[in-house]
Amino acid sequence: LAKQNGHNHFQFYVASIDQEIRERKQLEKDLSNALANHEFHLVYQPQINLETKRIIGAEALLRWEHPERGMIPPDHFIPVAESNGAIVEIGQWVLDQACWQAARWASEGSPLRIAVNLSAVQLRQESIVDDILNTLKRHNIPAGRLELEVTETSFMTNLSDAVAKLHRLHRAGISIAVDDFGTGYSSLTYLKQMPVQHLKIDKQFIRDLLVNEEDTRIANTIIDLGKSLNLTVVAEGVETAEQEYYLSQRGCKLAQGYFFSKPLPPKEFETFVHTFHARIVENNA
Ligand code: C2E
Ligand code: MG
Ligand code: MG
Ligand code: MG
Repeated sequence: LAKQNGHNHFQFYVASIDQEIRERKQLEKDLSNALANHEFHLVYQPQINLETKRIIGAEALLRWEHPERGMIPPDHFIPVAESNGAIVEIGQWVLDQACWQAARWASEGSPLRIAVNLSAVQLRQESIVDDILNTLKRHNIPAGRLELEVTETSFMTNLSDAVAKLHRLHRAGISIAVDDFGTGYSSLTYLKQMPVQHLKIDKQFIRDLLVNEEDTRIANTIIDLGKSLNLTVVAEGVETAEQEYYLSQRGCKLAQGYFFSKPLPPKEFETFVHTFHARIVENNA
């Protein structure tokens, strides 16, 4: 009987792996049609200067509305798109769309900086620097209005290649942020070689910032590191007034998170910007 159970267990295991492979294949197939089917859109999360309480920019975040499965979160499909290379085309679409939006907002009197997530796979592309600069030109966006968010994994495969490309982008006027700082293979060597201007404290350290002493110390350390290396620190995932207060007292300059706003579709983002700034003016009056 034991043996039979074992056998059944084994079959169950094989069946579940088989299903996983099929699901993954299906996801890849759906992903390959998603661009052409217009299933992607971007949402924008405001980034706030904690000193002036003004919105200084927005991070563009990708959303995939699957025709049958509904919204699929980026943490689920980006890794798949990275492993089969689809991220190259998708990432170019994101950049194009974000620049189009930035140009539109500028023409309406809100020249906000737009932050776009750049996958390590994109950065490895030979033509990536030219692709980015051409996209800016096409939309007539000054390079200073674009920020690229890269993670520490981008530096790992070919450090000198990544350094060279980021330097070209930086020389053109684009700013570079290290996203999810502290979760990857952080090395001070990278920071020294990279033309980086912003460090984004990962939201996992912000969530329990005021209840977990280790998280407090990690956040403090990143803020101090930013100060000594002359990098602007951005806290992501700020959800409460207490977190915002602590971070601003501690000298963290920028923040984003649900406390201010969730990532919003363009129209709602515009309304948010207007009411947020109107509120500040009222408070100062
Ligand atoms: P990320 O770049 O670190 O983005 C921050 C994530 O935190 C976003 O999740 C955002 O919606 C979420 N977030 C913002 N504020 C809060 C908060 O107060 N609390 C909590 N719990 N979460 C908050 P999202 O949009 O699901 O994106 C997840 C990740 O997917 C991003 O992390 C980024 O790594 C990747 N991603 C999203 N869009 C793109 C894209 O266009 N290209 C690439 N390569 N990756 C992208
Ligand atoms: Mg990001
Ligand atoms: Mg992040
Ligand atoms: Mg992340």
